[in-house]
Amino acid sequence: MSRHVAIIGAGVVGAISAIEALKSGHKVTFIEPGDPGGEQAASYGNAGWLSSHSVIPPAGPGTWKKVPGFLLDPLGPLAIRWTYLPQAAPWLLRYLASGWTAERVTATARALRALLAEAPRLHQELAQQAGAGHLIERRGVLHVFPTRRHFEADAAAWDIRRQMGVQWLELSADELRRREPELDPRYAFGLFVEEAGHCRDPGAYVAALVAQVRARGAQIVRDRATGFRIETGRLKAVLTGAGEIPCEAAVIAAGVRSKPLAALAGDRVPLQAERGYHVVIERPEAGPRTPMMASDCKAVASLTEAGLRMAGQVEIAAPDAAPDWRRARILRDRLLGMFPALPRILPESRARYWLGCRPSLPDGLPCIGHSSATRDIIHAYGHGHVGLVGSARTGRLVAQLLSGRAPEIPIAPYDPRRFA
Ligand SMILES: Cc1cc2nc3c(=O)[nH]c(=O)nc-3n(C[C@H](O)[C@H](O)[C@H](O)COP(=O)(O)OP(=O)(O)OC[C@H]3O[C@@H](n4cnc5c(N)ncnc54)[C@H](O)[C@@H]3O)c2cc1C
Repeated sequence: MSRHVAIIGAGVVGAISAIEALKSGHKVTFIEPGDPGGEQAASYGNAGWLSSHSVIPPAGPGTWKKVPGFLLDPLGPLAIRWTYLPQAAPWLLRYLASGWTAERVTATARALRALLAEAPRLHQELAQQAGAGHLIERRGVLHVFPTRRHFEADAAAWDIRRQMGVQWLELSADELRRREPELDPRYAFGLFVEEAGHCRDPGAYVAALVAQVRARGAQIVRDRATGFRIETGRLKAVLTGAGEIPCEAAVIAAGVRSKPLAALAGDRVPLQAERGYHVVIERPEAGPRTPMMASDCKAVASLTEAGLRMAGQVEIAAPDAAPDWRRARILRDRLLGMFPALPRILPESRARYWLGCRPSLPDGLPCIGHSSATRDIIHAYGHGHVGLVGSARTGRLVAQLLSGRAPEIPIAPYDPRRFA
């Protein structure tokens, strides 16, 4: 069965869905107002972690106790803007509820593990096929802590990871020093997760994937999708500012902007922006050998094609609210603190800042599945913190749904109707 599929959004989820749709014999048209992999997309500036072990949802038991801090400290690792609280409250309540018990967190971890397992290998193959193999590295990632005690404070989450089959190597202060000679010695304990990988330039990776799709004949309509024409239960066209795009199937992969399209396809989803920032220091004097997450700032430091990047922070705010660049400067200062050989005072001309929106559902799982209005529309968004790593299997699932084949993993946990 070959169909003409409109892919709405050319971030990493849309790009890989398009590749897998082509492999399954479908014809593809992208609808995307920006540059594929451009700065408007979360896929541009993320931390690049292909962390198949990132199975713990953001909220866990006891997160509710931290909510006053989220509200009172606008520069903390997770902050909620007061003015946005009334709009965010329903999402926040669901977010806290989904992590209320260890059983719920374990169920989410199981569903995420199925989605993320094998992701580094899948991405490496995709990148190689797109002529961008150099962008994917499979050399593991590090978690660094001031002391072993700091790791033990998070032991419950690591225990769930272990139950999901994740393995790691514990590193003493000396072993960490040998691996990471430029890291500040105040980090005296580490975990090395060998199964994980890393993308050296997520924006360039998406651009290469989309270029490959276009080289195989796909068109790109440079506009925003605004709706659907559905007649007697079948999709006839996607509506855009440039007119109707006739098609037989569509994939909603517009990241944080997917919510209104999902509603037009019959499904109300509580999609929220968890905004994050990055800083890139150009021509860095020092940096990590292996991409690493620092436990004390919950941000990832890694070398990218453009320089030394630190990405992280969660800000619950409207996607279009003005950026708070102080948050990106906090990341810069953290980075300078992690690697003492970087200058104590960095010239602003050497720092680049970016804000992006994680498309997040409150239970930490994406929406992947048929729409309620018609089986011709597929939901593929809401991957929150794990959209880069999770995109590889998502693309395969999308192609299987488009082709009427059985999905290769159970997709019930990602059902777009679970919030109804
Ligand atoms: C600071 C930060 C760090 C992160 N680190 C990691 C990490 O290390 N590993 C990881 O796996 N994930 C990470 N993430 C999450 C990851 O970046 C996202 O989950 C992922 O990029 C989402 O991809 P997407 O394709 O769904 O959305 P996007 O990349 O946002 O792409 C959506 C596209 O849709 C287009 N679009 C929007 N509206 C419309 C419309 N109406 N019509 C047509 N097109 C439209 C947009 O222009 C955009 O190009 C991080 C995110 C942030 C912010």
